[in-house]
Amino acid sequence: MPSPRYAVFGHPVAHSLSPRIHAAFGRQTGIAIDYTAIDAAPSAFTEALTAFATSGGTGANVTLPLKEAAFALADTQSERAQRVGAVNTLVRRGATWHGDNTDGAGLVRDLTDRHGLDLRGRRTLLIGAGGAARGVAGALLEAGVDGLTIVNRTPERADALADALGEPGRVHPRYLERVGEAGEFDLIVNATSAGRAGTVPALPRALVGMRTAAVDLNYGEASVPFLAWARAHGVRDAIDGLGMLVEQAAESFALWHGVRPETDAVFASLQSRNVALVSAD
Ligand code: NDP
Repeated sequence: MPSPRYAVFGHPVAHSLSPRIHAAFGRQTGIAIDYTAIDAAPSAFTEALTAFATSGGTGANVTLPLKEAAFALADTQSERAQRVGAVNTLVRRGATWHGDNTDGAGLVRDLTDRHGLDLRGRRTLLIGAGGAARGVAGALLEAGVDGLTIVNRTPERADALADALGEPGRVHPRYLERVGEAGEFDLIVNATSAGRAGTVPALPRALVGMRTAAVDLNYGEASVPFLAWARAHGVRDAIDGLGMLVEQAAESFALWHGVRPETDAVFASLQSRNVALVSAD
């Protein structure tokens, strides 16, 4: 019987911090972890996951652009994964894969516990409708935000995400070009990958109010364009995605090993060299 293996699948994935984070959690909890990064193009993902399972694969993280494919491949899915049709964590159960999504719980824990934000009652704008946006949308609603407006470069995907969330009274898809008509938001979450190309979607100043918090799921260089836009428009809080990355990893670790690691030390050590990081999870 091969020894248990863990991995993050993505494309590209070479810059992923997940192997380092899980190794640190393993040292902290005294659990020996074999966790690697596996590059798999979407067309090769099924085969790569099968080979991984055969060689002892017991748990996997899944990142860009494979989260929706992982949902389709999973034999069973948690309710929070089903709600949004995206999986970032796979757990081997016998001969099957169980799919879960820890992105949303990770974001909410970072914003509330680490940054002390009360999300309840916040008018919230979510920019993006890809795997990450899908992961966080349900958790933001559960955390009590007051209405969730979703915009995306491809509007049909914003519509599809809004439909999947199944709360038409609280979730409002809009055209990105017309988002300025929606007024101010208390929480603006950038869940696009535009920052990886050094850009930010065109957003009007009218979105920012007195207590707006701006959150980019990207971290390192990829978070610079959006957070620069946010600071230039006077947001009260500007938060990157590094804390979410560590928290979603801790949630995955707990699913696999039954222990939730302490995250502050790992976050602090990554943050000290954050500027040089490239978002990859
Ligand atoms: P996807 O490829 O699934 O989705 C990308 C999203 O970005 C889509 O909504 C896409 O719009 C939009 N987009 C891409 N380029 C542009 C652009 N130039 N202008 C406007 N919109 C654009 O990626 P994910 O959702 O998985 O990831 C999004 C980002 O979040 C990534 O950069 C990733 O690193 C980060 N992330 C961070 C995590 C963390 O723990 N901190 C966890 C997960 C992700 P369209 O639909 O029109 O293509």
